[in-house]
Amino acid sequence: MRATKAIIHLDRLRGNIQAVREKIGPNPRICVPIKADAYGHGAVRIAVAAIQAGAGYLAVASTQEGIELRDAGIVAPILLLSQPLAEELPDIVRYRLTLMISDADFAAEAAAAADRAGDILSVHLKVDTGMGRMGCRPGDALVLARHIGSQISLKLTGTATHFAVADSAKPDDVLYTKEQIHCFQSVLEEFRDSGVNPGIVHAANSGAVVLHGDSFFDMVRPGLLLYGYPPVREAAELVPVEPVMELRTHIVFTKEVFKGESVSYGRTWQADRNTILGTLPVGYADGLPRSLSGRYSVAIGGKAYPLVGTICMDQCLVDLGPDTDLKRWDEVTVFGNGGSDAADVADILGTIPYEITCNIHKRVPRVYV
Ligand code: PLP
Repeated sequence: MRATKAIIHLDRLRGNIQAVREKIGPNPRICVPIKADAYGHGAVRIAVAAIQAGAGYLAVASTQEGIELRDAGIVAPILLLSQPLAEELPDIVRYRLTLMISDADFAAEAAAAADRAGDILSVHLKVDTGMGRMGCRPGDALVLARHIGSQISLKLTGTATHFAVADSAKPDDVLYTKEQIHCFQSVLEEFRDSGVNPGIVHAANSGAVVLHGDSFFDMVRPGLLLYGYPPVREAAELVPVEPVMELRTHIVFTKEVFKGESVSYGRTWQADRNTILGTLPVGYADGLPRSLSGRYSVAIGGKAYPLVGTICMDQCLVDLGPDTDLKRWDEVTVFGNGGSDAADVADILGTIPYEITCNIHKRVPRVYV
């Protein structure tokens, strides 16, 4: 039991999956990125709920994340998005993770590992159409696909690319994404003309789901959108979603402070009137960034109250006002249930909502409702 909790609204996750389904139509599969502990929401519970809500595929960034899901009994295909070390290949084979392949050398190492285990490893070929991170050059994709096809212990079950600016509605960025889509389509045409089966074709992250209807192919991989944040704020109404994570706490102490008194480390705030302050048991160690100090309001009973003074490791202070009826144990929404959400926090700090939800520390219990 702890006063500070991350309430994970699984009904909202289901609603967000439904909203994506309505946007992409009945055919493309939905792959849910479960990496980084499901963007901080809790990998196993999110995976189970997403699969029950119709998502057919999961994606992780590390072998260990994939193993955690398998150990929890999840049998759905799990795509390993990032490049692992060669030493991880035996586990990748053993836990039946689907490997993303960008080059022939690693394909050969993967084939050898699968061979040694007497198994067949499912792989997706990654084409770099303009992200510049992983993936082969488009001109090398056919040769790589054939190389994979020639390995009896590998099976090409998918072909993918990733977008760099699909979450931007700026004309230059929209054009860049269109060029990436076009480049990917050319690779797929080349595969088709050469009789190469690309398997499940996928490209779209959240931004592309919202803005690029020609990027859905056989599967989409939206993360942020499914966790409830519009990747393109000016187009939020196109796929209406709700934040899945609510960071909730309680007032655990109240005290009157008098005009001129200061509070918290560094004495960065001084009362300009007599007022009542509430102490909240949430701080930067929980994932409430210290740099929000003096720049953020929490919601209590649907009304905004400013945080005052420096946010400490485990606690912070809220100005409840001189005539407040609020009292110890009253519930406080830090973000994600009316009032501000993680995107508002991110805006204040000049970052993105992913970073806010991912950074909610594991000592904050996740409570699934
Ligand atoms: N696909 C890949 C390869 C990714 O790396 C990510 C996330 O970083 C995603 C899909 C999901 O992106 P988003 O959360 O922006 O939808």
